[in-house]
Amino acid sequence: MKPYKGDKVRPKKSLGQHFLHDETAAKKIVNGLIVNETPVTSVLEIGPGMGVLTKYLVAEPRVELKVVEIDRDSVAYLKKNFSSLEGRIIEGDFLQLNLDQVFTHPFAVIGNFPYNISSQIFFKILGHRDRVSQVVCMLQKEVADRIAEEHGTKTYGILSVLLQAYYEIDYLFKVPPGAFTPPPKVMSAVIRLRRNSREKLGCDEAMFVKVVKQGFNTRRKTLRNALKNLNLAADVAALPIMDKRAEQLSVDDFISLTKLIEDNRGGTNS
Ligand code: SAH
Repeated sequence: MKPYKGDKVRPKKSLGQHFLHDETAAKKIVNGLIVNETPVTSVLEIGPGMGVLTKYLVAEPRVELKVVEIDRDSVAYLKKNFSSLEGRIIEGDFLQLNLDQVFTHPFAVIGNFPYNISSQIFFKILGHRDRVSQVVCMLQKEVADRIAEEHGTKTYGILSVLLQAYYEIDYLFKVPPGAFTPPPKVMSAVIRLRRNSREKLGCDEAMFVKVVKQGFNTRRKTLRNALKNLNLAADVAALPIMDKRAEQLSVDDFISLTKLIEDNRGGTNS
């Protein structure tokens, strides 16, 4: 295989590699991270590639950095060019990583995410939400829009509800395709997620996820129809909220609805 521009990593489509070359954008992303004065903030960077963000992160004394990168060529590049990353590079798949072995305390996640797996990354983060205090990430703009969107709009969806239940979302800025090599076909955007103070939902977690997923899977249907196979009690099915569609419900509405469904389980369905 021919090397890409001398020593640089040749971008692989299959790994979602679009290397950011716009230094202003790179600095802004790293500056988007809220770093504690003390003690140091532990940070995991997903997919450092050739280190466009990494170089600003290693220069920040209040950051304790680890990186996870699946691409062997990128790992070789980082080892060669960033001696300070010694012992801090995890070569592997973020989705398979045991996060408890990376940091034993709360940490932040940063990265220009591989767009093809961004939803899976967020589902994994949600599973570790009490450890992941903050996320600063670049995404396909469409996905960023969806995550940040409020209820009552067409873009509001499953990830918006599930992430907004536990995180405050800040929309930071947009990045055009020309900022990357090779340029992606889509616009990109950077968002920040900060863990909110919600510890428990106040309803069954698994049921909440089920209600949200089913509600949106047939998003044009009323909730009464979309949630039919949850075997709703007649009293619940008759409520006015069931005339609405999933996209009209706020996070709190989804929590109340889940509670209602739970409290009326086992009731007659006739
Ligand atoms: N941060 C770099 C690269 C962004 S491209 C930059 O901004 O230029 C996405 C990066 O994620 C690539 O380096 C790719 O190799 C890496 N990657 C893709 N899938 C991954 C996975 N499952 N786990 C860890 N890294 C992954």
